[in-house]
Amino acid sequence: MKIVVYPGTFDPITNGHLDIIYRAASLFDKVIIGILTNLTKKPLFTTEERLEMISQCVKDIKNIEVKSFNGLLVDFAKEMNAEAIIRGLRQVSDFEYEFQMALMNRKLCENITTVFLMPNEKYTYLNSTLIKELARYNADISEFVPNNILEELKRKFL
Ligand code: ADP
Repeated sequence: MKIVVYPGTFDPITNGHLDIIYRAASLFDKVIIGILTNLTKKPLFTTEERLEMISQCVKDIKNIEVKSFNGLLVDFAKEMNAEAIIRGLRQVSDFEYEFQMALMNRKLCENITTVFLMPNEKYTYLNSTLIKELARYNADISEFVPNNILEELKRKFL
């Protein structure tokens, strides 16, 4: 059984994240989405809200689980019996940070491999911060997030 973890803040999850999740789900037997809770930046959505929102988005896909974690990513991956970590690469600007993280995680745990996946090019300029900004000013973001996320964003910014 090939298990992979996909860690992130997902504040909120976007169609870009989902693109990566679907690709991962077709490559691995099980994908565990890991929501980071030990953040210094203050997320708009609580961990519980993010867990619920992501679970809604992926409820029809059997080999996906959603969990939250704090502490080291490699410890979470080991606990989940994962062999790999998925990260999304959108553009060159993601590379430097991701490269550093991947090598440090390999140093911490030799047998967990970081795998990078690229989303459809229409999502390469998408990130959660931009989505929150647009939602705050009531811009049309319906092509960037699923309907349930759109509703949750509207609720936050009402
Ligand atoms: P983090 O704080 O860990 O970067 P994010 O939720 O911003 O959390 O991102 C989680 C992962 O998803 C990262 O690997 C990021 O590069 C990737 N990602 C974020 N937005 C997109 C997108 N639009 N398309 C593809 N991958 C994305």
